[in-house]
Amino acid sequence: MMAALLLRRDKKSTAAHLKSDLNRTDNSSGVRQLQELLDSVLNPEKPAADTEALDWCKCLIAGGEGFEEFCKTVRSYDNATLCGLVWTANFVAYRCRTCGISPCMSLCAECFNNGDHTGHDFNMFRSQAGGACDCGDSNVMRETGFCRRHRLRTGENVPSVPRDLLLMSEMVLSRFIICIIQYLRDGYTEPDTSTERDLQKVLQQLEPQISFLEELTKMGGAMRTVLTKILTNQQTFKDLSMGQEENVFAKKNYENYLSALKNSGLVSVEEKAQTGAAEPTRGSETGALGLLGAAAPSSSGSNKEEDQDGGQSIGQRKRVKLSSTTKDPSIMDSLKHKCFLEELLFWTIKYEFPQKMVTFLLNMLPDQDYKITFTKTFVQHYAFIMKTLMKSQESDTMSNRIVHISVQLFSNEDLARHVTEECQLLDIMVTVLLYMMESCLIKSELQDEENSRHVVVNCSEALLKNNTYWPLVSDFINILSHQSVAKKFLEDHSLLMLWMSFVSFFQGMNLNKRELSEHVEFESQTYYAAFAAELEACAQPMWGLLTHCKVKETQEYTKTVVRYCLETLQIWFDAIGFVDELAPNQVTFHLPLHRYYAMFLSKAVKCQGLDLESLLPDQEMLMRIMVHPLQIQASLSEIHSNMWVRNGLQIKGQAMTYVQSHFCNSMIDPDIFLLQVCASRLDPDYFISSVFERFKVVDLLTMASVHQNTVLDGEQERPMLEGALTFLVILSSLRIHLGMADDEILRAEMVSQLCMNDRTHSSLLDLIPENPNPKSGIVPGSCSFEEMLSAVADFKAPVFELGGSMQQGMYTPKAEVWEKEFDPIMVILRTVYRRDVQSAMDRYSAFLKQSGMHTTGNPWPPYKERTPLHPCYKGLDRLLHCKTLHIVIFTLLYKIWLDHSNMSEHVLCMVLYLIELGLDNQVEEDKEDEEPCIEEHCHDSWFPGTNLLSNLHHVINYVRVRVPETAPEVKREREPPASTSAEASNFGQNVREAQVFSLVAERRRKFQEIINRSSTEASQAVRPKSSSTRWVPPGTPPQLVTEILEIHESMLSLLIKLHQKLSAKQNSLSATWLEDMDANPNRHIHGDGITAIERILTKAATRSHQSKRSIQEICGKVFPPVAPKKNSPAAKKTMDKEERRQRARERQQKLLAEFASRQKSFMETAMDVESPDTEAAMDLGASEVKESEVLYDCVICGQSGPSTEDRPTGLVVLLQASSVLGHRCKSDEAKKLPTTDDERIYPADTCGAAHDVRLALMQSFFKDSSCLQSVSIGWDGGVYVQTCGHTLHIDCHKSYMESLRNDQVMQGFSVDKGEFTCPLCRQFANSVLPCRPGRSTEVVSWHMPSNNKTSVLVKEVEDLQEQLGLFPTESNLSKEMELVIKDIKNTTQRKYMDYGKNPGSPDNDFLFMYSVARTNLELELVHRGGNLCSGGASGAAKRSCLNQLFHVLAMHMRLYSIDSAYNPWTRLTQVAPSRDDCLDDERPEVPMLFRDCPSLLIIFVLTMPQPLRKEHFICLVRMLYNLQYTQALAALSAKFSPEERQAWSTSGALKKNAFNAEKSYEALLSHVITELSKVKTVYDVNTEEPSMLSTSVWSPQSIEYSLQQFCLPYLRLSCLLQHHLYGDNLSGCPEEEEFSGLAGCLGLLDPVPQPSNPMYSASCLAWTVSAFDLMSQWCSEVTGLTNTQAEKSMTLLVQDLQWASPHLLHLPDNYNTIFQYYHKKACTACKKVPKDPALCLICGTFVCLKGLCCKQQGICECVWHSQHCGAATGIFLLINASVIIIIRGHRFCLWGSVYLDAHGEEDRDLRRGKPLFLCVERYRVLAQQWVSHTFDHINKRWGPHYNGL
Ligand SMILES: [Zn+2]
Ligand SMILES: [Zn+2]
Ligand SMILES: [Zn+2]
Ligand SMILES: [Zn+2]
Ligand SMILES: [Zn+2]
Ligand SMILES: [Zn+2]
Ligand SMILES: [Zn+2]
Ligand SMILES: [Zn+2]
Repeated sequence: MMAALLLRRDKKSTAAHLKSDLNRTDNSSGVRQLQELLDSVLNPEKPAADTEALDWCKCLIAGGEGFEEFCKTVRSYDNATLCGLVWTANFVAYRCRTCGISPCMSLCAECFNNGDHTGHDFNMFRSQAGGACDCGDSNVMRETGFCRRHRLRTGENVPSVPRDLLLMSEMVLSRFIICIIQYLRDGYTEPDTSTERDLQKVLQQLEPQISFLEELTKMGGAMRTVLTKILTNQQTFKDLSMGQEENVFAKKNYENYLSALKNSGLVSVEEKAQTGAAEPTRGSETGALGLLGAAAPSSSGSNKEEDQDGGQSIGQRKRVKLSSTTKDPSIMDSLKHKCFLEELLFWTIKYEFPQKMVTFLLNMLPDQDYKITFTKTFVQHYAFIMKTLMKSQESDTMSNRIVHISVQLFSNEDLARHVTEECQLLDIMVTVLLYMMESCLIKSELQDEENSRHVVVNCSEALLKNNTYWPLVSDFINILSHQSVAKKFLEDHSLLMLWMSFVSFFQGMNLNKRELSEHVEFESQTYYAAFAAELEACAQPMWGLLTHCKVKETQEYTKTVVRYCLETLQIWFDAIGFVDELAPNQVTFHLPLHRYYAMFLSKAVKCQGLDLESLLPDQEMLMRIMVHPLQIQASLSEIHSNMWVRNGLQIKGQAMTYVQSHFCNSMIDPDIFLLQVCASRLDPDYFISSVFERFKVVDLLTMASVHQNTVLDGEQERPMLEGALTFLVILSSLRIHLGMADDEILRAEMVSQLCMNDRTHSSLLDLIPENPNPKSGIVPGSCSFEEMLSAVADFKAPVFELGGSMQQGMYTPKAEVWEKEFDPIMVILRTVYRRDVQSAMDRYSAFLKQSGMHTTGNPWPPYKERTPLHPCYKGLDRLLHCKTLHIVIFTLLYKIWLDHSNMSEHVLCMVLYLIELGLDNQVEEDKEDEEPCIEEHCHDSWFPGTNLLSNLHHVINYVRVRVPETAPEVKREREPPASTSAEASNFGQNVREAQVFSLVAERRRKFQEIINRSSTEASQAVRPKSSSTRWVPPGTPPQLVTEILEIHESMLSLLIKLHQKLSAKQNSLSATWLEDMDANPNRHIHGDGITAIERILTKAATRSHQSKRSIQEICGKVFPPVAPKKNSPAAKKTMDKEERRQRARERQQKLLAEFASRQKSFMETAMDVESPDTEAAMDLGASEVKESEVLYDCVICGQSGPSTEDRPTGLVVLLQASSVLGHRCKSDEAKKLPTTDDERIYPADTCGAAHDVRLALMQSFFKDSSCLQSVSIGWDGGVYVQTCGHTLHIDCHKSYMESLRNDQVMQGFSVDKGEFTCPLCRQFANSVLPCRPGRSTEVVSWHMPSNNKTSVLVKEVEDLQEQLGLFPTESNLSKEMELVIKDIKNTTQRKYMDYGKNPGSPDNDFLFMYSVARTNLELELVHRGGNLCSGGASGAAKRSCLNQLFHVLAMHMRLYSIDSAYNPWTRLTQVAPSRDDCLDDERPEVPMLFRDCPSLLIIFVLTMPQPLRKEHFICLVRMLYNLQYTQALAALSAKFSPEERQAWSTSGALKKNAFNAEKSYEALLSHVITELSKVKTVYDVNTEEPSMLSTSVWSPQSIEYSLQQFCLPYLRLSCLLQHHLYGDNLSGCPEEEEFSGLAGCLGLLDPVPQPSNPMYSASCLAWTVSAFDLMSQWCSEVTGLTNTQAEKSMTLLVQDLQWASPHLLHLPDNYNTIFQYYHKKACTACKKVPKDPALCLICGTFVCLKGLCCKQQGICECVWHSQHCGAATGIFLLINASVIIIIRGHRFCLWGSVYLDAHGEEDRDLRRGKPLFLCVERYRVLAQQWVSHTFDHINKRWGPHYNGL
């Protein structure tokens, strides 16, 4: 065969050859050849993994060219104007609400950064499901937001594609695609035989092929056009899909495909056969509604496909199946395909959306033709997609992939409308939703389970629990956001009906039944699923639809929805068999039908100008509609009154979720609104009595002192009564849907949240309900969130508290908001946690106190006037003006006055609130005249009318009550009433007059009235009274007797009496007080109960003459002294309880505040180095030294005593390794964190690196032991010792540790590692430093000068050094000292201790020990700011443990002795003949000029016998100063140019013989130059590098300055040492005088001041031998070196000893700069982009946090780096979270963020994605904690990291 021939040939040339053949006019042979070649290359029978085929395809497509070049060429014809970049999960993208038309719009980082979004509302986000860049698509976003590249329509100037370029591609790719499809067909087997695995295997093998497709799409528009042509061409599909007849494989392959297709419909083939040809019932009115009633209990036996998983346990409940006859068969049917794209998508779905395939399909979207065809195909497969999703094992992944695609398609309004019109998208979606939910329907148990015909979703099914319906619902919401699509939906009645029946599946789901006897066994958590389902599946689409019903023109839509709502509700009531009584002890929080109805009503009245009346049903229906929402309100109160405790915590969860910010406007708000509507239309007496009956407090509302309640326990009565009253107040005062504008609502929401607590911007944003005001984006004509926020709140900038807690930026209510807008009712409504109400009240009273508005006692919730009611809802006010309510108010006032049980301040408060609401909201039509009313004629009822104003002064004389026989009233009445007959007859009269009242009876009566009325009105059949048989009137136990109470009170008189009672004053209101009152009632808004009563009385008086007269009359009467009525113990108890609780709260707060301030001041003293410390125990260095022995307090046993050899005391210390010193640099400017590839950080210039180099250099020339005495280590990994200053007996400490070990659970530290917290101050510690025993008198002897000459002292020092180390006698103390030395060594890593050539040698140990002292001194210098200018007898010295540390070190160092032959002291003080170094085979000693003076000083001090006399110390300092000065001269001379050097040498030589030449810098400088010049090499080296050679000439001043600078570090250290050893004060000085200050302090300066001579440095010299001789000797040590060594000697001579303060890296201002560079940067170690990248803020190293990739020796990279960079302390910025973690040894903690948003808030994990800016203050604090080593003390939440970071 020819193909076989071709196959054997070179691919490239074959391709070229074929291409030219095909380009001929007669290309038939070329075509044939190509086909034959492809037949054998692309053979689906070959294993897919064979890459040969792919190589062939690439070559053929490129047509002889290289594939890469071909790609480039094709790309140059890219005409795409869209970005279309597709990304998968976790990609970082942007969203700009200002530029977006669709809320789903997103941009890739490149397009975002290249566009102009300044000042826009944008955020960065991490993609959840994946997405694509919309840049360039004007359907989705505004063109102004396009990036530069996509704004220039690149397509216009791209040349058209040459014909032959893609010729090969067209021919090859169609074959390639069918080949892939055949693989897919072949790999697929029916679910019963195949497993998840098999599919994955097929996909894995196909991976290269699909990747190749994806690669092709990246070639741009030209290639996409070719692909589109192939994918959508129907002819090609027909030709290729079936395969050749004779090919057996192809035939089988095709059959496989057909059988897969067969089950693609929602109804399987067999089922369809059963039901017969379903007639198209869609559109007929009964169809959809039929769904509801069609829940035939018998339909369980069908063999539907979905029943496969029916075996899963879903509880004992049986699933209910609906008949599927109502649905459009075209949607239910199997699929048929017409092109490749369709089949490809089909397989994509079957294989559950493989990522690569999804990316390929999405990458094609920029091609417009493709986009349209693909969208249609997607819609065509929509039902199949959802069907597959429901069966998928990995529905989460699949959901994300589905939405990844669908968002791209449906966010585009044009496309969405197009497919809605042409492909019935809406019908499909609703049908599929119904289909989905049908799979988990159960019979509703609401009301009467037996006879219920209602079905609801089962919330414990996986579909609901796992939120599997999410992608579908989200698509639905997405398309409804387009006006044109929503219009379609609202105009299609049958769709609406279908939708309503869908919503009714959720009506009454997740029913709760109150457990009465035993605690529920299993707390079902199904309520999450239920709330989520109602919100997402019902409420969100509702809000979507509502946004399109905002104008008059859309009235019809609303009318239709409302009509279907009511119809569906009617069906629902019928289905559950509801007549007028609820089944007891049931509640469901899910009433979506009610809420749809409510919200469309609200919109109709508010925005569309519809008349409410026209949308309301008859009275009877209203009464029914009212029942379930009211039951929820009562249940809320029951739940909070602990009546549902047996149902477990979850029921509280439901109550809280119901009012929570994300749910409230879809749940409680519509419910309250619906109840308000009902209340405004129903008889108010009926409504009020229903409320009290529902809240079960009817029995309580009797005037009798005793009552029985058959439905409520005693302790529940009060909270339930409070609940009922609060509900009434909310109902009659809330205006959210009754007249408030959107802006006003937003404002009220904001105020109520801010009043509860100060809020961060983000939490506030989260707490404000989304509707009606979308929280972001610009809503025309309404106030934005930000504007509103700045109007009501003040911003409190983030502050840092010393205690360690970092505050975020907070918003707090403005003063005038507290004064005028605080609305306790709104707060109660929005409160999820009850404590928030109290919090708001506490904050309110704090405000009043602070502003002086109310200073005594506890203020009451302020009364707030309400926005006027919308005229439609005026009827609501009648609630406040009905006799029933007035009777309740009267009764309660009376009972409170008499201290009846179960009354509370809250009850009174709510009663007064209701009265005031009534006074402020008069019913207009009820124009009651001011005529005096005749009380006698009203026998039928308590009050003459319904107007509150006139009822207020109506006097009630007698009341008839039913009481138990044991009640006090009974006894009293049993006594003969009166002696005279007149009174007796009066009594008889009273009996007739006495008012009877039964709320229940009242409600029943009204109910019947309404029923009868409405039934006659609507001419309906009278309802059967069946319900009354079930209804047992509560509260009528038999043993009650009727008694008559004498009352003679009106509401006004009761109010006045209560005023007296509250103010505890007889006649608290004088007859004339009304006249004295300020007419302005606003003045009395803030205050307590007394104020409230006065305010009400004033209002009553100003609005009614009758009331005014009545008030004056009552006040005028002199009341008999009120006997303290607190005789009812129960009442007293409740009142007292409240009070006690309040007091306890106050007390607690006071305590807490006190504690906080104590802690704060403690922290301040602990942190503030400058503050004086009063702890005398540590005051060793105080100038007034006491004669007595030093005493220490043990913080464990509390005893005070000296530290003794036998029972030593120790300081609580924390030992930690530190590299802070090593990270210092020369420059005082922090290094910049690199944010581009061009920037780098070089670590070589740090102090640690410089010292390492120096030591290594020395070690390469000189004797090791000598080297190890010539430097200090500990710059990196030195041990820092700090103490909290507290002491304890060491034996006490041991038992303390033992006790800690026994309860290991609590701590964040590890006792086994010796860690503990100070028993007193709780500061973290890990060792105890023994205190030196002794008498302070010894200290005095240290100070006493002996007036010896320097030369004598030098000799004395020498003798002391010769003294052999006195080994201390073994004692407890010495043992402890050795132990702490061990601790110190264990604190740091081995590598920081072994610098010598012989690891573990005593020389190493020696170096390490004195370096510990050095480290601590140096660190103290750093803490002091780098110098000693601030001076002072600082508290730090007293709290410092340096003195004790020195003592311990000295004890240890005495174990070593310095070989006297090599004692540097000799060479420092004597001119000795140079020893013959060359005789030793060893290397030479380090020359004195290379040695480090501070190190020598410390060595001397520590190796001499303790205590060291001060004069000896000074002697040491002086002698070493000589050396230091000489080193300075040598270093200086090296900086000279040769000429200058010559000049200074000559001029100085002249002064050599002058007086005082030994203290003349000129003479000495000259001498040093001369000496060092003796060997040419010393200075020669330097001339080679001209770097330092400055053009400026050295002057005497600059020379002096240079010398001083060189010597300063030595002086500082000496001075500090003296300060710690001898307690000398450090005197402060200006910085420029530091040298003289320190020299003076050390006594180096002549006692006679020489003000004329500013050249201090030389005058501090003190020579005991000839200076010139000594210097010659030192120089000769250098010049005597071999040539090679000499070359480096300049480097060793010219060392700069000054280091700047340590800095963390300098960070950019904008976090995005860091994030963009680092979040996709590859790790240098593993070369991969880490999942959790982190950045060391000390050195800038980039690490893989937690990554296994960079784990070494079981330690993850971050921990590893902390050990090497910071000696186990690390500060890392987590790039993806913007937070900083601290690693300290084996522990870590989350420090917080130094980047805050515009509102001063952190954005952990970058969830909000708003721009973040560096908070300089926080970063400074971080650096300060690092430098001061206080991470352990300040941060509290540490945890072990197990090396896993
Ligand atoms: Zn883009
Ligand atoms: Zn762009
Ligand atoms: Zn923008
Ligand atoms: Zn003790
Ligand atoms: Zn302490
Ligand atoms: Zn580092
Ligand atoms: Zn790494
Ligand atoms: Zn790595």
